[in-house]
Amino acid sequence: MKKLTTNEIRKMWLDFFEKKDHHFLETVSLIPVDDPSLLWINSGVATLKPYFDGRKRPPSPRLTNSQKAIRTNDIENVGVTARHHTMFEMLGNFSIGDYFKKEAIAFAWELLTSDKWFAIPSEKLYITVFDKDVDAYEYWINDIGIKPDHIFRLLRDTNFWDVGQGPCGPNTEIFFDRGEKWDKENNGPRLLAEDIENDRYIEIWNIVFSQFNNDGFDNYSELPRKNIDTGAGLERIASIFQDTPTNFETDIFWPTIEQIEKICDSKYKYSMGNYFNEDKTQTKINTAFKVIADHIRATSFAIADGVFPGNKDRGYIIRRLIRRALMKGMELGINGPFLSTLVIKVIDAMKDFYPYLIEKQNLIEITILNEEVKFLKTLSKGYEALNKMIQTDKKVTGKNALLLFESYGFPIEQTIEIAEDRNVKVDIEEFNKLFEQAKEQARNARKDLKAWDKQNEIFTKINVESEFTGWEKTQHEQAKIVYIFTDEEILTEAADTEVYVILDKTPFYAEKGGQAADTGYLVNNAMRADVIDTQQGPNHQHIHKIQLDGSIKIGDTVDAFVNEHKRTYTMKNHSGTHLIHSALRVVLGETVMQSGSYNDEFGLRMDFTYNESIKPEELLEAEELVVKKINEKIAREVHFCSMQDAINKYHALAFFTEKYDDIVRVVKFSDFSSELCGGTHVDNTIDIEDFTITGLESKGSGVYRIKCVTSKQAINEYLNTEINKLLKQIKDINHKYESTKTFASDEKIEELIKQSNNKDISKATILELKAILDNLTASMKNHERKVEELLTTQKLEKFKSFEPKPNAEGVLVIEEKVDGLNIKDMKTLVDDYKNKFDEVIITLTSENAEGNFVVVGVSENLQAKYSAIEIFKVLPILPKGGGNASLAQGKF
Ligand code: ATP
Ligand code: MG
Repeated sequence: MKKLTTNEIRKMWLDFFEKKDHHFLETVSLIPVDDPSLLWINSGVATLKPYFDGRKRPPSPRLTNSQKAIRTNDIENVGVTARHHTMFEMLGNFSIGDYFKKEAIAFAWELLTSDKWFAIPSEKLYITVFDKDVDAYEYWINDIGIKPDHIFRLLRDTNFWDVGQGPCGPNTEIFFDRGEKWDKENNGPRLLAEDIENDRYIEIWNIVFSQFNNDGFDNYSELPRKNIDTGAGLERIASIFQDTPTNFETDIFWPTIEQIEKICDSKYKYSMGNYFNEDKTQTKINTAFKVIADHIRATSFAIADGVFPGNKDRGYIIRRLIRRALMKGMELGINGPFLSTLVIKVIDAMKDFYPYLIEKQNLIEITILNEEVKFLKTLSKGYEALNKMIQTDKKVTGKNALLLFESYGFPIEQTIEIAEDRNVKVDIEEFNKLFEQAKEQARNARKDLKAWDKQNEIFTKINVESEFTGWEKTQHEQAKIVYIFTDEEILTEAADTEVYVILDKTPFYAEKGGQAADTGYLVNNAMRADVIDTQQGPNHQHIHKIQLDGSIKIGDTVDAFVNEHKRTYTMKNHSGTHLIHSALRVVLGETVMQSGSYNDEFGLRMDFTYNESIKPEELLEAEELVVKKINEKIAREVHFCSMQDAINKYHALAFFTEKYDDIVRVVKFSDFSSELCGGTHVDNTIDIEDFTITGLESKGSGVYRIKCVTSKQAINEYLNTEINKLLKQIKDINHKYESTKTFASDEKIEELIKQSNNKDISKATILELKAILDNLTASMKNHERKVEELLTTQKLEKFKSFEPKPNAEGVLVIEEKVDGLNIKDMKTLVDDYKNKFDEVIITLTSENAEGNFVVVGVSENLQAKYSAIEIFKVLPILPKGGGNASLAQGKF
């Protein structure tokens, strides 16, 4: 066997497929683009869905990549099996309507066994195929010459790929035999034939023959265009070529593990032939090392792609990984933050193929360190909470164990360990039940999302060219109709209906890159059609959805007119998006990364990552910076160039979240803003006229959404609405509380109203009004508090003159109904009586709309003989609640 480093293996894979005319695709972000069905990119093919279902034309029908992927369902497997990671790299080759089974199998075999390439001895390889897939079986036997005892025909559960909807089909898997030393009972190929979990045969490559369409109800039809989709785990192949017991001793993880050894007292020990060390304690130690090495790598990559620790979705996963890794560190005796010091080891091992990690080192380290510190604080609070449960309840209920897990990150094992050390039981059964329920809920929440679109046959067939002429113009005379179709069929003509058309040249912008589609109309002697929508076709064609009044046929010419008002205002907003993006990066720093945007004629919104809270003055500063740039009258530049030039020469922002073509377009406003962008923009920043931020909300997980408007007219409208809203609130308060009128006299309000009708109303007016409103609100709250205090005193007054009476034992007692009072009032009253009489037992009950309450109090002098909680427990009304010798309270 050859000895190959991970980098050499990846390169050999990509070289091989490039030699076979495959187009190399850069690895893309772990955050899926336009795909709500996925939380993370979880395979190579997940990034290529639009090519597979026909929405987009691929740069070549043959593709190859090495794609980073995250599988959260494998987190529990990490460190337990030899071969699972949270984040791993999947090598792939793909055919989109090009070659199929025969060639895919031949390619795989050549790459794996040829001396020029991986040179794996063929007797070490085993194959599985779907039992009904006769073609695949015969290719392996007849074309490749696989011995029949090296190939197994298995069932649907292992050898048919189907996500329940969309493209699916049989697959063939290739396994590597690591030999008898990994198979102590010498079961041999039976392990494969019977699909028994084992360490001997490692699945390295899965080749899916995408052959059918599942309509979502398990009705299968042949796909109009068949595809090949394959995936092979890079880390697993590395462990084979580096002859290591698990993936963790390879050159990817080993430097991290060595670094962890340096900061703890434990050692990672392994022997060939058994990755579970004979010694149970050592196995646990090894697992801790593996989990840490795995989690720090996944976390570093996710943060570099713009995911920050948070309480939801991706942010939550990252938080969990960091917490888990920290807990494993504790098992190794590390008690402070340490994960951020491992980041450099991850970057060193991965930077050849992921050079962008180098620039992100600082961001990754700071983010992880912050989260570590935060978690360690939470953890000590968790200890306090657990201590309380142990001391007061003398047990840990399942509900509390789940609370410890969810709120304080306490794994159940930890809770059990601490509790059992102190002879306290944990209700594990209840915990497991609740835990499963919580998981089920999370699963269901995602289930109904459509994972794959049906392959749209009509779309895949569109092969006409169409040129966009609308960068500078909004009309195009004499455009030719080159394609007419509906969702069901391709047409040569149409009349008085809704159809899609493609023109040889069009000024209509198709919705993409966050910019809304153009609308408008097409016209000639025989018809007039409203263009309702424009969307992008598979080969960048602009597809117009039109409502026809009259008739058209292929070859007709039409004059095309874009709705100019909509386009103009959309452009102002799109350019405004670029400016606010840059301004936020200036004010808040470069961790601000745009993660989505939308702009149309009404305004703009932009999502961006940022891990801290944002102060109002920071927002104001960003807004002022944009306005300054508008007034600097900066001319817009556009450059078509290579990605290389875009980044090095024009310093364009590119975020690896999107796929870019070979030639990219850079939109630049001096050195202030430079972005890769296919949208339409104003000629000069002064055309934006004016800019104001109208809202900012946190979307959780370190993502914010900012909303803004541009242009004098839109801002005027916005300010008018805002002012009227504020004035109304002020007036409402004034009417409600005559006494606070001094804060805003009617005169002042009238003056402001006058101003608001004035066209040139200023933003300063809004600030002035907001200040008035804040003052009023504060004074109103103050007023309300006083009123409430007054009411309470009045309410309590009528219950203040109860006279205690001696009971059978001669002790003074007060037993009274105080209907209408709440618990808080009742406790105040009990205190009053305790102050008034030295020795008294008070029992008050109250029935009111909020419920029925009871409070029992015992004077200090009587507490040697009587206890409030004991009296409470035997009350005939059977209340539920708690307390101590002095006071008990509850509901009945
Ligand atoms: P397994 O049964 O081992 O979990 P799988 O059937 O889930 O594998 P596929 O979905 O077929 O795997 O993915 C293709 C390839 O990606 C696998 O052959 C394997 O090499 C690799 N792979 C899958 N999951 C992981 C993981 N969690 N960590 C590392 N590599 C993985
Ligand atoms: Mg799996």
